[in-house]
Amino acid sequence: MASQLQEVSTTDLYYICQIVDSVTTSPRAYLRKLEDVFGDMSSSNLVRKFPKWTCFHMFIEEVISSVIFEDAEQALIKPGKYWIDHLLKSNNFDYPAPPFSEFSVYEGYEYLEKLQENELIDRVCEDICKQVFHVLFSNRRTLTAFGCLVGDYVLNTSSAFVPDAFNDKGFLRRASIPTWAKSAVFHRDKGRCVLCKVDLTRQFSQKAKIHYDHIVPLARGGMNCVTNLQLTCSGCNTSKGGRSSRTSHEYESWYDY
Ligand SMILES: [Zn+2]
Repeated sequence: MASQLQEVSTTDLYYICQIVDSVTTSPRAYLRKLEDVFGDMSSSNLVRKFPKWTCFHMFIEEVISSVIFEDAEQALIKPGKYWIDHLLKSNNFDYPAPPFSEFSVYEGYEYLEKLQENELIDRVCEDICKQVFHVLFSNRRTLTAFGCLVGDYVLNTSSAFVPDAFNDKGFLRRASIPTWAKSAVFHRDKGRCVLCKVDLTRQFSQKAKIHYDHIVPLARGGMNCVTNLQLTCSGCNTSKGGRSSRTSHEYESWYDY
């Protein structure tokens, strides 16, 4: 369907993916910002049932805007010389936005405020976020790291603010998985159990049972989220156990070497 086609173009895309991946695996420097994204009241975002704009999207957006604002901390610079200018140009956003004069100098934050009058920063962040998600959704290692990262927030903070979403044991209640989420995961994992690689397309055998497994189990703060699912067979799903965040970092190559 044409509506699912997405342009993935920016030359900075993999640079941003690398930053997002680094923050998920070693978030120390970003811990305070994580509190801003998911702490207290915002933690209710973590218990939403299969939102299409996931918590991982929100996290990616936060990282992108952090980098934009850090870049603008240098005082007094000419319009057109910030990283944000580069992002706007390479993603085909209106540029330069009025009322800038290329002969004036601006304070970084003043410049960003003016751009934001036309919501240019929000729009470019959202656009790049979708591109970053496109790349990182393929990477189960990054998704696992992110799921483990927010697991504590789910179990501790979210349960305090949204207790109804949790069961008697204090785990998030299991939500039924919508068809679009199953399709996305089946497509990404190419119809194979990610752990034992058995074919689950069921073209030639109806025996294999398909499981959409929570990568980070609900018992460990896993979310009801498309980013927390992987395709497994019933045997692997049962042997994985309810408290293990096991996945595989192997992917089918495009062709044999
Ligand atoms: Zn299996």
